[in-house]
Amino acid sequence: MVQAASAIQSRYDRQVRVKEIGAAGQARLAGAVAVIPGLGALGSTSAELLARAGVRTLRLVDRDFVDWMNLQRQCLYDEQDAALSLPKAHAAAAHLRRINSQVRYEPIVDDINPGTIERIVAGATVLVDGLDGFHARALVNEACVKHGIPWVYGAALATYGSMATVVPGVSACLACVMPEVALETTTPLSCETVGVLGPVTSLIASWQANEALKIMVGATDSTSPDLIHVELWSNEAIRFPARRADHCDVCVRRQFHLLERRERMMTTSLCGRAAVQVVPPPSFKLDLDLLRDTLRRTVPLEDNGHLLKFSADEHPMVVFPDGRAIVFGTADGKQALRLYAKYVGA
Ligand SMILES: [Zn+2]
Repeated sequence: MVQAASAIQSRYDRQVRVKEIGAAGQARLAGAVAVIPGLGALGSTSAELLARAGVRTLRLVDRDFVDWMNLQRQCLYDEQDAALSLPKAHAAAAHLRRINSQVRYEPIVDDINPGTIERIVAGATVLVDGLDGFHARALVNEACVKHGIPWVYGAALATYGSMATVVPGVSACLACVMPEVALETTTPLSCETVGVLGPVTSLIASWQANEALKIMVGATDSTSPDLIHVELWSNEAIRFPARRADHCDVCVRRQFHLLERRERMMTTSLCGRAAVQVVPPPSFKLDLDLLRDTLRRTVPLEDNGHLLKFSADEHPMVVFPDGRAIVFGTADGKQALRLYAKYVGA
């Protein structure tokens, strides 16, 4: 769309008037690259806010497609996107182009893993977390610390959420505050099991976008190194101090174990039948008791003492104690991985 120069000038007027931004801040935004891995509720809200704010480049990353269940909270998508099962990265970019055509959009349909993450963060001014699993966040943390890129953690579930900003070399990184075991173990507590409210995701994503703006305009000192936890239903906000660990493997010793592992979930089609086997990497630890309890609350579950069997979105799935699974009724490895991430963990 052709716009008059004066219209382009005026579009950021109300933002430039904010003294924390000003003309200098706006100019910095016009040169910044923001990366958003995960375009669910958090990612789509922060992407819209940053596109409207006039960031130069938005790199939009997601491996999934739009589903009807997303529409309750994932504000960038509409019914047509769900009906067409469009990849979220492309649907997001298409909607954002209509909001602000001056931004350069880089949609990427891919998984976050050791083989992709460093390419995804390359050249970023800031990364805004829209992910829903701690293993992927731990990878993001390693990649951002390695390359000196500030990133804004965010998570939301049910009626609560949390947010913190990691400035490599200055504030605590994810590995400083979370023991490695928590990053490696699957967490069946998810949107699928306990749900999530739209206002919570909007609140957390807005907070993240504001932190990202501070970083992009050069006001990194004003970001929050502490973890801010909000319980929206009871209107409570708590601040948990996050301190750098003296011997942190990632931000002190600069040992990037996850990045260097370069191993990922493997899938193999099972010959002669429509089924895919999913094999997690050796570092993946399945808590079978926790998975059994969680599944029992959401789906009819068969447990023969050797494996769990249930229906994953109409696809029979079996999960073995070592974390291996077989998804029936498909020969598509990506679909099997999606179902595995949804029901077992990512
Ligand atoms: Zn650290």
